[in-house]
Amino acid sequence: MPKTYEQASVQDYGLLAQAMTTYHPRLAEYEVKVALLMVASNGDAPALRAHGHAVAARIRVLGPRERLLAEKDAVIEVDADRWAELDEAQGLALLDHQLEHLIIQAGKSGEIKRGPDERPLLGTRPEDWLLAGFADVVERHGLAALEAQALRKLFDDRQGLFDFMQDKPPTKSGKRKTNHDQAAA
Ligand SMILES: [Zn+2]
Repeated sequence: MPKTYEQASVQDYGLLAQAMTTYHPRLAEYEVKVALLMVASNGDAPALRAHGHAVAARIRVLGPRERLLAEKDAVIEVDADRWAELDEAQGLALLDHQLEHLIIQAGKSGEIKRGPDERPLLGTRPEDWLLAGFADVVERHGLAALEAQALRKLFDDRQGLFDFMQDKPPTKSGKRKTNHDQAAA
């Protein structure tokens, strides 16, 4: 059975609105409209992929034709199975991550760029970091491996950001896990 798509529930749209007004007031100020779609894979393959890896969610800016038809500016797709495993705080963080990708395009003097429909034009920005690496390569080469250096640099540059790593991880009952899971795309 192919993938199926469903509009998010009113409750989930409420969480998205909370993420936008709390952490992205500029998007809220310009009334950026974001659709929230739940995607079910209906099979063993992951519902969503980015860069070849399974992801819990991803965001895309809509083109002019889609904007007109959908009356939305961007769409967040969420893996419905993964979503069902998240509590509210985790869901909020996931949606915050997706909105963090969105930027309102501005000209050199800072004025907002708008499309022919007068809606602000959006773009996306990449994450501050994207970790990829092979355990086998790090085992063979240690800090000579670029992926090990990247990890080292991340911890050195962002001291304080990862203080929670000292905490003991919460004991959680057997949720599905794969080596390829990323938090989000
Ligand atoms: Zn991302």
